[in-house]
Amino acid sequence: MIVDTNALFGLKTDHLQEHSDGFFINTEVDAPFKTLKAAAHEAGFDLKPASSYRSFERQLAIWNAKFCGVRPILNIDGKVVDIRPLDDWEICQAIMQYSALPGASRHHWGTDIDFYDAKMLPEGYELQLVESEYDHHGPCAALTHWLMTNAAQYGFFFPYRHYLGGIACEPWHISYYEVANRYLSQLKPQSVAVLLTDTDIEGKSAILAHIDEIFTRFVTNISDM
Ligand SMILES: [Zn+2]
Repeated sequence: MIVDTNALFGLKTDHLQEHSDGFFINTEVDAPFKTLKAAAHEAGFDLKPASSYRSFERQLAIWNAKFCGVRPILNIDGKVVDIRPLDDWEICQAIMQYSALPGASRHHWGTDIDFYDAKMLPEGYELQLVESEYDHHGPCAALTHWLMTNAAQYGFFFPYRHYLGGIACEPWHISYYEVANRYLSQLKPQSVAVLLTDTDIEGKSAILAHIDEIFTRFVTNISDM
């Protein structure tokens, strides 16, 4: 099945449907996610999306804000990176530990969801999506453990389960394997390069010069199902 290029890049929305309060999910993933949610509910959790579909425009705004220092870039230890001494390519690599290159984000596809356990968060708590919320005694740790054990039987996996030298470990990010894999297999460095050539993206020449390496290290380099 061929995926529309604009759906791959987060440039259109007709591969999506609204799941709940403003969260959009791929039409092929909404039912499996509801089944997963029901199973999690049976096990005592309230599985909710913190983030699902994200458009190209939104990802571009995040990227440019981080590149210009308007939004902090965190390193793997959760510390803010001082970008002043870094060259453009070094800044790009620092951003990509936690934020995907626009056009190459799995969140464009609507197949991937950052989750949390709504039952465990105190009123008014603002989720940070940091490891301490998801491991040991963090509020989402029990749900994460349950999903790591059970999500696969519902077709979901953790593409950023382990740090593999590219994207940091993101225990809050799950993906519906069958559909996401179809999208990933059709995403090519050269087509992202063409897309970004006509885009106002910070660090453009560094990105274009390293597009193959970006794919190898940050796009196709994921943990398996
Ligand atoms: Zn995510």
